[in-house]
Amino acid sequence: MDHFLYRDGVLCAEDVPVAEIAAAVGTPFYVYSTATLLRHYNLFDEALAGTDHVVCYAMKAASNQAILRTLAQAGAGMDVVSGGEYLRAKAAGVPGEKIVFSGVGKTAEEIRIALTGGIRQFNVESEPEMEVINAVAQDLGVIAPITVRVNPDVDAKTHAKIATGKSENKFGIPIARAPEVYARAASLPGLKVVGIDVHIGSQLTDLEPFRLAYSKVAELTEQLRAQGHDIHRLDLGGGLGIPYARSNEAPPLPLEYGAMIKETLGHLGCEIEIEPGRLIAGNAGLMVSKVIYVKSGEGRDFLILDGAMNDLIRPAMYDAYHDIVPVIEPAPGVEQRPYDIVGPVCETGDTFAKQRAMPPLNPGDLVAFRSAGAYGAVMSSEYNTRPLIPEVLVNGDQFAVIRERPTFDEIINRDTIPEWL
Ligand SMILES: *Cc1c(COP(=O)(O)O)cnc(C)c1O
Repeated sequence: MDHFLYRDGVLCAEDVPVAEIAAAVGTPFYVYSTATLLRHYNLFDEALAGTDHVVCYAMKAASNQAILRTLAQAGAGMDVVSGGEYLRAKAAGVPGEKIVFSGVGKTAEEIRIALTGGIRQFNVESEPEMEVINAVAQDLGVIAPITVRVNPDVDAKTHAKIATGKSENKFGIPIARAPEVYARAASLPGLKVVGIDVHIGSQLTDLEPFRLAYSKVAELTEQLRAQGHDIHRLDLGGGLGIPYARSNEAPPLPLEYGAMIKETLGHLGCEIEIEPGRLIAGNAGLMVSKVIYVKSGEGRDFLILDGAMNDLIRPAMYDAYHDIVPVIEPAPGVEQRPYDIVGPVCETGDTFAKQRAMPPLNPGDLVAFRSAGAYGAVMSSEYNTRPLIPEVLVNGDQFAVIRERPTFDEIINRDTIPEWL
């Protein structure tokens, strides 16, 4: 559920008409709903009630400072995947002891940043990385808390580009090798083993792959404990999917996910960490764009928008589906017609939807891409020298620009010309 609803025939973000924001900031832009962000965070928090737990928001999904602060004030920890994200989380007010650091290629410099600023744990993804964390920790005279990310060889049944838990993926170490790797970790004086980590992919719409992976983690916990390791924390990653198409069957709810976690792992008495990103931010954001032209082609009509693949790359990159709705509610019974909905970028990949049924639209009309809050603004670029689009946060009847659109001068002046030119 989200807080983007039609009221009196106009699409609103909470209590603010989307068209009002468009008039103030121009199009295209992203708009997020505070109430939706908090609702989704709380769903996870409540799903794990009764179990010692931390919800570490996977901030790569949407990492604006205002979003991070909204969630941090509600009690969220953060899952970061780079030194930059670590510093962003700290800048938003998240204490180091609530930040977990994931990712396959942490550099010595990034590890140093996190160890200096304080860290809940590193999720170690390889043996060479483990050696570097140990070396940096020893150099700083501290002990680095770690889990090892295990790859359970489970098929997450999601898009190939976001599946991470199969043995052919680059993530984690094969679960069968875990005892050997944990033995090595225990021998390194700069490290302290605190638990096990697993993350099998994103946009999972079925609980079974999770259940399979978590059952394997339960077995491994007992095996490692028998070998003398103090496994008291289980990081279960993120990945719970969201409904992108309103008409589709609903993915499992956080409550069902939480119940399954308790069922598969509850007997171990471990502290549970989860790292949801998409489910917290996805349906909490829209991308709003304007129709520039309606163009009639050979047997098809194109809606050419001012938003493009550089602003929202998910359709081009993952063949992702987004509901696209007019900002003025169509009259009941209005006849829909098929459009190809495209952006202005010079690539055929800059197509948001093909033959999508829409009510008749005209130049100047606004449309909103639903479920654009996660992996939207964070993956945008200035391809074609199109400025990064603004981000806006709504809270009740208030809204604020939380990232400005850069001017063309700012964009151009980021380049520097060598003196020989
Ligand atoms: C991307 C990622 C997440 C978040 O995944 P969602 O599908 O957005 O919930 C969590 N943990 C790790 C390690 C990730 O790489």
